[in-house]
Amino acid sequence: MPDFSTYFLLDTGTAKRYAVEALGFFAPEEAVDCVEIGDGNINYVFRLCARGGRSLILKQADRLLRSSGRPLDMGRSRIEAAILRLEGELAPGLVPEVYRYDERMSLTAMEDVSDYHNLRRELAANRVYPHLAEALSGFLADTLLPTTDLVLDAEEKKRRVQFFTNPELCKITEDLVLTEPYYNYKDRNILFPGTEEFVEERLYRNEALHAAVAELRLGFMNNAQALLHGDLHTGSIFANETGVKILDPEFAFYGPMGYDIGNVIGNLFFSRVNKAFTMSTETAAIAALERTIEDLWELTGKKLAAKYDALVTLPLYRVAGFRDSYLAGIMADAAGYAGTELIRRTVGDSKVAEVTAVTAPALRLPMERALVELGIALILGRRDFGTGGELTALCRRVLAQEE
Ligand code: ADP
Ligand code: MG
Repeated sequence: MPDFSTYFLLDTGTAKRYAVEALGFFAPEEAVDCVEIGDGNINYVFRLCARGGRSLILKQADRLLRSSGRPLDMGRSRIEAAILRLEGELAPGLVPEVYRYDERMSLTAMEDVSDYHNLRRELAANRVYPHLAEALSGFLADTLLPTTDLVLDAEEKKRRVQFFTNPELCKITEDLVLTEPYYNYKDRNILFPGTEEFVEERLYRNEALHAAVAELRLGFMNNAQALLHGDLHTGSIFANETGVKILDPEFAFYGPMGYDIGNVIGNLFFSRVNKAFTMSTETAAIAALERTIEDLWELTGKKLAAKYDALVTLPLYRVAGFRDSYLAGIMADAAGYAGTELIRRTVGDSKVAEVTAVTAPALRLPMERALVELGIALILGRRDFGTGGELTALCRRVLAQEE
């Protein structure tokens, strides 16, 4: 029998043994159920539950992606456990608690947060919790600003940049989010039949857009501003009536904070646009979602500014002219990366359910055009958004052209 001192991929039987023998989480005589619940396409996630109710999550990385079988850097697992611990300190209660990270097994034992539900699915079911904007803006401001050079000791920050260097996962983003949708250079875009000409004209031959995306791409690669979650879409956010839990930060690295903020905003817009085409009579849910987007934008800006005032001490950085342009730069990035997220999950190869669930061309074609046009307008106009209301008004204008 393996003793967990060298790596092997767990199954439900060995996961149970690990929880008993290596972690001592369950007693040997306890009856424990174990299911593999991973719905992502990258790692293996086991949920172990004792009859008495105590439960545990084991998340294990494998060298080969479970979806494509392609190899992927195992260091991502260490990075994920480390950022979960940091986020747990910066934003208590908003991420699962890490009980133990096992380097040899590339395995994180963590708190089971199964009483929270995948936000993408909650939004699809018109459950838009009123606390979302408050909770998510708090998570963003609390986890991002304190990890910057404005707050951290310069040497400590550089050590963290080194530790969280995550080249293989960043390359996925650099390719699939920030290159491929604008050229199809590796022929990996997946276009819905009938969108080819539109995509060719609006994305592949749009020089003004390419210039803006080039800037966002290089910003993603070079602006080691803050420690990012790196994959903050609504499938990484879990929610219920009482709050949120943020999962799955294996794409973490030091990058521009607007990338995380923009990812959340962009993914909320998928739900908003999908509802316009598939359930336009759900006016209460649509209004709640719009308010969430608006409040999230405004509260994130306000909370970042408050964190800034509370934590930044160097007199040079405290000059209002610098502070304001720094914060404005973050929000401009956020609008831009919300746009790149909308575009890549519409024409790229990792689509979202809000897009793929709409199969009738009479709905899918105008919906895709609206998503792409909204993305383009967010990218090109990224420096012009003041209030959250301007974002949702833009979305309504784009929808009015296509509905
Ligand atoms: P991957 O890296 O493969 O995308 P995720 O971290 O997203 O894996 O986990 C896949 C799924 O497993 C999640 O969507 C969620 O349903 C479940 N899951 C992961 N971590 C937890 C946790 N701590 N508590 C409850 N469920 C979890
Ligand atoms: Mg995932």
